[in-house]
Amino acid sequence: MPAAGPVLPASFRGRPVLDPARCEEGCRACAERCPTSAIRVEPPAENGGAPRLALDLGRCLFCNECVEACPSGAVRFGKDYRMAARAREDLVADEGAYRLAGALDAEARRLFGRSLRLRQVSAGGSAGCEQEANALGNVVFDMGRFGIQFVASPRHADGLLITGPVTRNMKLALEKTYEAVPGPKIVVAVGAAAISGGPFAGDPEVIDGAGSVVPVDLFVPGHPPHPLTILDGLLRLLGRIRE
Ligand code: SF4
Ligand code: SF4
Repeated sequence: MPAAGPVLPASFRGRPVLDPARCEEGCRACAERCPTSAIRVEPPAENGGAPRLALDLGRCLFCNECVEACPSGAVRFGKDYRMAARAREDLVADEGAYRLAGALDAEARRLFGRSLRLRQVSAGGSAGCEQEANALGNVVFDMGRFGIQFVASPRHADGLLITGPVTRNMKLALEKTYEAVPGPKIVVAVGAAAISGGPFAGDPEVIDGAGSVVPVDLFVPGHPPHPLTILDGLLRLLGRIRE
């Protein structure tokens, strides 16, 4: 990672910044506009205070609809690309500190810290997250310099990187691929679809994310995530980034 931090495009939407103190009384415009019910507006803890806002990055499509609906600028997207988390509940952003992914235990770091082979599984994805994951291998992001590579066979892999909402047609294939990876193994869910079903959540043809099929060690939000968000999450998981 560049010491000075990456240069991101002006249109980049990173971790959301919520300022409920600016909310208008009785307003719920953001929640009513959100296509995935990712943002919640809850009554203030005390009478007369500001409402409480919470945005679930595991459901968020980064579509900006809530920002456009907000009459007071109380919600916006910042430029922080670091968003990956170890636990599903840690993906909920509010006014408090956001909990970024912590590292695997010492034994897993000893095994995978300098050499991590992942089998990519597109479990009904739209090719958006798949393209961003593939970009990790190009000369710009070059995850190979950290010893991370995609491999063709799950039998040669240390874990899975899953994209897509897991369609019913892909459930068995995902289960078999997971079983074919020798243990110990890790699972990375990339993108809103793989985390929660994303725009397909609730559809009878999808399973609503990888976590309902296999245990997930790292959740990378985005729709799709920027390659830096994926790489940052992987390096945190391996203990290569700690701040
Ligand atoms: S950016 Fe996220 S929270 Fe806002 S409307 Fe879109 S999906 Fe909902
Ligand atoms: S964030 Fe904006 S749209 Fe949402 S409740 Fe507050 S004022 Fe309304």
